[in-house]
Amino acid sequence: MAKAFVKRDTFLPFSRPTIRQVEIDEVVDTLRSGWITTGPKAERFEKDFAAYVGAPEVLAVSSATGGLHIGLMALGLKPGDEVIITPMTWAATSNMVEALGGKSVFVEIDPDTLQIDPAAIEAAVTERTVGILPVHFGGAPCDMDALGEIARKHSLWIFEDAAHGVGTLYKGRHVGLFDRLAVFSFHPIKNMTTGEGGMLTLNDSDLARKLRALRFHGLEKQAWNRYAEGGTPQVEIVLPGFKYNFMDIQAALGIHQLASVDEFNARRRELAFLYLELFAEVPEIGRPAAPAYDHFHTWHLYVAKVLDSAGMTRDQFMTALRQRNVGTGLHFRAVHTQPYYAQKYPDVVGSLPKAEWASDRICSLPLFPDMTEDDVRYVVDAVKDVLVHAKD
Ligand SMILES: *Cc1c(COP(=O)(O)O)cnc(C)c1O
Repeated sequence: MAKAFVKRDTFLPFSRPTIRQVEIDEVVDTLRSGWITTGPKAERFEKDFAAYVGAPEVLAVSSATGGLHIGLMALGLKPGDEVIITPMTWAATSNMVEALGGKSVFVEIDPDTLQIDPAAIEAAVTERTVGILPVHFGGAPCDMDALGEIARKHSLWIFEDAAHGVGTLYKGRHVGLFDRLAVFSFHPIKNMTTGEGGMLTLNDSDLARKLRALRFHGLEKQAWNRYAEGGTPQVEIVLPGFKYNFMDIQAALGIHQLASVDEFNARRRELAFLYLELFAEVPEIGRPAAPAYDHFHTWHLYVAKVLDSAGMTRDQFMTALRQRNVGTGLHFRAVHTQPYYAQKYPDVVGSLPKAEWASDRICSLPLFPDMTEDDVRYVVDAVKDVLVHAKD
């Protein structure tokens, strides 16, 4: 007989950022410095990030969503253009395609790894296809060799959604520079945070110049120092740009988060491996599979699957865990099933059975660097208790 389950007193959230005294001190230093928006710390953070991923060009932006928006504009996306997208993503990825009048073409995923399926991409290419927007899902990379081959064959660009990808390697190379453009996210649930924020990475200095103008009001020259000593207030607008710049307050967090992200990721890996080990004896809960190709997985997410043998739906499972003080996440409801997309692309609903199967069964369990091994064991015990009661 298993020992009785005892509910913990405090709620264990699905995610929580690791914020230490060093980040707090740096933010306070910025607040006291007289320079709180884009400035020297944002510049330093860009340099640090460029060095970390090995990128010739980077642009810090106010969010990955903003980065997707101006990135797609800079790549020349026009109304009616088709972009091939994984449905297993946060809607920001396809929302920005739609916002620019493009057409989101959702394709199948591998239901085990939840990564976009290269064969499905190849099958979806038409004369109107201009690019591929793959997501390096959950901290593992997608198959960039296979994607690169398809892109070359059909003259498509690839814009990597690397929102989950800080620290992720594909065949020894950091994600973010496999084709024209990539975007990272520093939202609080991601592997490192700046509160809100994102980073574009690329090789192409012409594209970078255009992106810098789009990022900040359409100014051709870097103008954050126009009010500083040595700066000049006169500026030139070369296109109608946006306001997606990155603040020094954000950079104050980012500089120290980035310096520790390898440590954070190492801790995530330890905790994820413990989940994998403990769930080996819980057949009703499917374990996430890692891709077969060479990669380094940062375990941004631990995505469990509530299999049919559990005798309950994923939503019932989530509610039952919450009753046991365990928070969960859903990454992601397949985007093509969301009301806007289902209405715009009704034929796609029902046509991606693997993505839809996964979408109904996945559940992200708590995983963040400050968790303890006992927290992981508690989650697994709570899951077992939920399953026992499902069969009552
Ligand atoms: C978080 C996320 C985004 C959006 O990032 P923001 O910085 O919040 O705009 C885009 N794509 C994926 C896959 C994400 O998980």
